Formats: sequence, C-alpha cells, structure tokens
Amino acid sequence: MILSFAMFGIAVLLILWLFQTVLLDDIYMHLKQRSLTKCAREVTESVDGSLNRVQLDQISSEAAKKYGICISAYSITSSNGRKMGEAILDKHINSFCFIHNMKGESLLNKLYLAAVQNGGTYKESFSISSLFGKNQGDSNTGENVIYCNLVPLEDKEVLLVFNAELMPLTSTVDTIRAQLVIISVIILAVAVVMAIIFSVRISRPIREMSEEATKLAVGNYNVNFDGGNCKETANLSATLNRAAYELSKLDRMQKDLIANVSHDLRTPLTMIAGYTEAMRDLPGEATPENMQIVIDETARLTSLVNDMLEVSKYQNTSQVLKITKFNLTEVLRTTLERYSKLKERDGYKIICEADCDVYVEADENRILQVLYNLINNAVNYTGEDKTVIIRQTVSVSEGKKQVLIEVIDSGRGISEDELPLVWERYYKVHDFHKRADMGTGLGLSIVKNILLLHRSEFGVNSKVGHGSCFWFKLDVAE
Ligand code: ADP
Repeated sequence: MILSFAMFGIAVLLILWLFQTVLLDDIYMHLKQRSLTKCAREVTESVDGSLNRVQLDQISSEAAKKYGICISAYSITSSNGRKMGEAILDKHINSFCFIHNMKGESLLNKLYLAAVQNGGTYKESFSISSLFGKNQGDSNTGENVIYCNLVPLEDKEVLLVFNAELMPLTSTVDTIRAQLVIISVIILAVAVVMAIIFSVRISRPIREMSEEATKLAVGNYNVNFDGGNCKETANLSATLNRAAYELSKLDRMQKDLIANVSHDLRTPLTMIAGYTEAMRDLPGEATPENMQIVIDETARLTSLVNDMLEVSKYQNTSQVLKITKFNLTEVLRTTLERYSKLKERDGYKIICEADCDVYVEADENRILQVLYNLINNAVNYTGEDKTVIIRQTVSVSEGKKQVLIEVIDSGRGISEDELPLVWERYYKVHDFHKRADMGTGLGLSIVKNILLLHRSEFGVNSKVGHGSCFWFKLDVAE
C-alpha cells in the first residue's frame, strides 16, 4: 500500500513537472499563436472595400484588447499624396512592440514583399535581432510571432500587421520549479502518512482476518476476527465471527448427532440381538412378552430412521403439501386413541379438551405428524403426574377464525435460553434427556418445517419447573 501511494505521488509529480516546466514553453507558444491567428482572422474578415478608417480603428481596437495582440496598419500605395508606409492605424498592447512606427521602409518592405509572395498573408515567428538587426526593437528581447495581411481599405491597399510578443518564461519556470520541489516533498509526505493510516486501518485487519480464515478453513473454530476501527472491515469481521459461530454450532450438533444416533441404534440392536438369540437357543424363551420387546425395539429403530429421512427430505426439496379439508378435532381424537395402550400400561393421563368440531384446510398427514411429535415429546418429558393436556380453542381475531392447538405437559420445562433452540435440527436440551425415551433431536425441527410450509403460527411457552406448552394455529375452514 505504501508503494502504491508512493507511486501515485510520483506519477502526479511527474505529470506536474512535465506540464509546468518541459511543456510550458510549447503550450504558451501554441496558445499565443492561436490568439494571434484568431485575432488576425477576425479583423481581416471584417475588412472589405466598404470599410472606412474609423470603422477599422474601432474593430482593431476591440480585437487588440480581446486577444492581447498589437495591431498596426500601413498604407501601401503612394498615390493621393500618401506616402508608402504611412501609419494609418496603431493599436498598442505592448508599447515596445516593434510594429508601431516602423522606421525605415526596409522593414515594412520585407513584410510587404513576404505577404505578396505568400498570396497576401504572411505569418512568421522570429527574434527581432536576428531578422532586423540589433537596432530594431532593442527593448524587445523575446520571440515574436508576426502576421501580415494585405486588405483593401477605402479603395486602397493596406498592410495589416499583427504582432504577439512571446515573453521569456525563464523566470516563471524557475519559480514553478522551486514551488514544485516544495509540492513534491509535501505530496510524498502526505502519500506516506496516508499509506500508513490505510495500512493500519485496512491492510492489517484484512491480513489478520485472512490468517484467522485460514484456521477456520481447516476446521479450527476457535477463531476471532478483529476488523479494527474501519467500518467496512469491522462489519466483515462481525459477519465472519457469526459464520464461525454458526459453523462451530453445526459441527458440535453433527458430532452430537453421530454420538447419539450410533448410541440409539446400538441400544435397540443389542436388545433385538440378545432376545432373538435367547429365543433361538433357550427353549421356552419365545414368549409373547419377549417377542413384543423385539417388535418394540424394531419400531424404535424404524422411527429413528424415518425421522432422519424426513429431515433430509425437508432439507433437500421444496415440499409440496396435499391440501384437503378435514375435521381436525376428529384427527385429534383418533390420535389420542392410539395412546390408550400407554394410558393403560403406564398410567398416563392424556386429556383432550375440544369444545367443538373444527374443519381446516391443510395437509392431513403432515398435521398428524405434528400432533404425534408434540404429543410424544409431552409424554416423554411430562412430570410425575404423567398428565398431558391437548387443548383445542377456536378464536376470531381481525375477522379471521383460527383454531389454536396446545399440547401441555407438567414436566421440568425448558429454560428461556434454550427455548428458541429446541426447534433447531439435532438440538437436545442438555442433562435433560431420559435415556430410555431418547429421541434424535429432530422431532421439533420436523414440526417447524411442516408448520412453516402451512404458513402457520407456532411457538412454545415454558417455565422451568412448571411444564411446557407447545402450540400452533390453523385457519378454520368454512
Ligand atoms: P427429541 O427427539 O430429542 O425429543 P425434539 O426435536 O422433539 O427432539 O426436541 C428437541 C429437544 O427439546 C428435546 O431434546 C428436549 O430436550 C426438548 N423438548 C422437546 N419437547 C419438550 C417438552 N415437552 N418438555 C421439555 N423439553 C422438551
């Protein structure tokens, strides 16, 4: 960065040097010559046979002032008592200009002859001493550009002479050079200071962030991106820190999942292997109870695999819902009937509170899945009283009739920090999992995906020690 700024400074200075010193003379000459030519054209074009001296005087006066050019006019013919070379116009810009009161016919003759030879117009650039000898225009030391034109005036021929004196620029160039040295030092110093500031504010944080990103790329999530004080790099570092946090979370969850799933698969598999071997080897072990254990464990395995398939399905494709109109209350009741065995065997109280039958337009199978997942969780995590309440309430808000389904348990509840996380894939509340009923951490993620597809509102209210209430809402169909 320092190098770039230094190069930029040097480039600026080079351009300045080039224009201010090397090309200054040429540019000045060019501009002066252009003014001279323009002025000469302007005056010459306005002169024709009908113009009188007074008018020419006026036009020349204006042009001389406008372009900073000296203008003289001399009569050429000696008829009517006028002498050859009589000055009939004299417009001074520079009082030392040699074209005024030209002494001696030789000078005028030279210009006249040159103009005649060149078809009436003559333009030349020269130094006076070289052309007219030392005595001519001795106070005029610089270069001159002269322009002559033969024009008709009051039926006579007149030689219009225009002169632009080119001032010597040596002293100006010297001044500019001295200034440029000072400017160069200032620009270089500013370039170095700016380079240091930029390097501290931008380059260094970017370099450090790049080093941290390299660590992240090889799976080291213990990184900290520091963007320094610059707003852009600070924003970038905040985004990268968030990305690193999310990556580390995902990595932890996946590791947890592999540990949990392998454990979950092993437990029922060990049971199935143990029981079936016993049934094969020991007479009298093939009892209906033992068979049931094998069937239950197989069901656990199936549900585990199904859950995992289900989640990957929602991840990979945009799911299409099969929307139909169905009786949600009826679905609720039949679902609860399936838990009757659990009620009888383990003494669970599963209460359904539904005031009326409600129809909804939704994907029946998916809603059933939501209900199963929520009720399963409630059964798994409910408290000692083994009570789970499923409540259906119909309400009207803003002219919209909606049904609210709540699945309430009396378990330990979920802490406020963990509440938003339970909906995430593979998430499990730590130290709070009953091994026997251990799930995959996928159930609520499936619920969330299905309810999002239905554009349905959903959520959970929970207080540690007071149980949880998982809820969702659906629009009531007419
Ligand atoms: P799992 O299959 O492990 O139950 P879920 O996605 O259904 O996975 O739930 C995620 C986590 O949320 C669970 O591990 C559990 O800790 C917590 N959780 C879910 N439902 C309840 C509930 N009714 N009461 C307390 N904790 C719950």
